[in-house]
Amino acid sequence: MCNRFESCSNDGTYQLVLENRNTGMEVVEYYCKAHLVLRVWEVERDDVLDVRDARALCATSEADDAASPVEPSVDSTGTSE
Ligand SMILES: [Zn+2]
Repeated sequence: MCNRFESCSNDGTYQLVLENRNTGMEVVEYYCKAHLVLRVWEVERDDVLDVRDARALCATSEADDAASPVEPSVDSTGTSE
């Protein structure tokens, strides 16, 4: 769900941390991936705001799923009569 685009229902939540160069204050916003890219593009053209950090909150990647080792489960395919 996006901060600025309320009608947005895209998957994935990304945290975007911006810094106001004038005040030094950080602003945290949340976007989907598509709107994150859009927002970063906006910020890069902005003289005041600066991108501090952008990260995925809900990582749907299967790469870091090491907590569930794949073990051979007991497969009851043997037909016993
Ligand atoms: Zn969005």
